[in-house]
Amino acid sequence: MIVVMERGATSAQVEDVVARIKLLGLAAHLSQGEERTIVGVVGSPLPPTLDGELEIHAGVEQVVRVTKKFKLAGWDFHPRKTTITVRGVEIGGDAVTIIAGPCSVESEEQTVSTARAVKAAGATMLRGGAYKPRTSPYEFRGLGRRGLEILVLAREETGLPIITEVMTPADIEEVGEFADVFQIGARNAQNYLLLEEVAKFGKPVMLKRGLSMQTEEWLLAAEYVMAQGNPEVILCERGVRTFEAATRNTLDVSSVPVVQKLSHLPVFVDPSHAAGKRDYVPALSLAGIAAGADGLMIEVHPSPDHARSDGAQSLTFAQFAELMPRIGAVAAAVGRSVPAPIAV
Ligand code: PEP
Ligand code: MN
Repeated sequence: MIVVMERGATSAQVEDVVARIKLLGLAAHLSQGEERTIVGVVGSPLPPTLDGELEIHAGVEQVVRVTKKFKLAGWDFHPRKTTITVRGVEIGGDAVTIIAGPCSVESEEQTVSTARAVKAAGATMLRGGAYKPRTSPYEFRGLGRRGLEILVLAREETGLPIITEVMTPADIEEVGEFADVFQIGARNAQNYLLLEEVAKFGKPVMLKRGLSMQTEEWLLAAEYVMAQGNPEVILCERGVRTFEAATRNTLDVSSVPVVQKLSHLPVFVDPSHAAGKRDYVPALSLAGIAAGADGLMIEVHPSPDHARSDGAQSLTFAQFAELMPRIGAVAAAVGRSVPAPIAV
């Protein structure tokens, strides 16, 4: 809690407030600004009647409770929902945003054909990994810079903005040169130095939820980005690790309303990494939108059985095209729309 003293409050009035705070067994921290004094009240629990008791003291202008740990991500300091515009695509607005594309960029033909197909079906952003975090070091780890160049070709071809993962501070300059949105993967969601460095680049950041991250930890990770002066953070629920082995991860649908209650940041659902199997992706997509997600990120591949990563959970072009109108119907049912197609 902070007690904001009036301009010109006397030192006797400040001392009176401090004495009252100490009398209650709480600590008072004085912050003497050029124009006014702020008294920080620390202690737990703060009595529920304290605001009223302090407000009536002479010289007090305002008493403000600062309860949330995530000051920038929370509603208290930012009472409007955050919207982020990326090359004309609005995120967090009335329309839900559908991001689609391959898990990994494998070739120009694979990525550009996927970009064309998902755009034709109504997606407004393209995903694709050039630097891939893989569980085994022997698996395909992405094409690196060539992958980024291919994403740019696909953007030029379709007009779709691109999102791609950055895994290490050393790659931020390179990835930032090509990407419209940085993706921070689940494995790096609590890599605080990476979060701070990526924030400084000044482009929007999608922060996946970590493998076993609690909501509060997730929002505090977002706070790391925002505390560097970058307010453009998108959260993405991608399933968490549980005892259940029938799916790759367990989609925590409740995280969508939970996060929305706590934070003004847009929240997306990634049904692909939650499901791990393409058969379940449509149901989880619809569930995410029904729960109020601001968008989805879905893996799509021209030939999933031949994909170099995450083929089992990738939709074919036909499956994605079939899913899109169903997403639109659920979006409409919960008072959202799907965005207008991108013009190149
Ligand atoms: C991905 O999007 O391809 C990915 C690796 O996701 P996550 O970090 O959520 O596992
Ligand atoms: Mn993947």
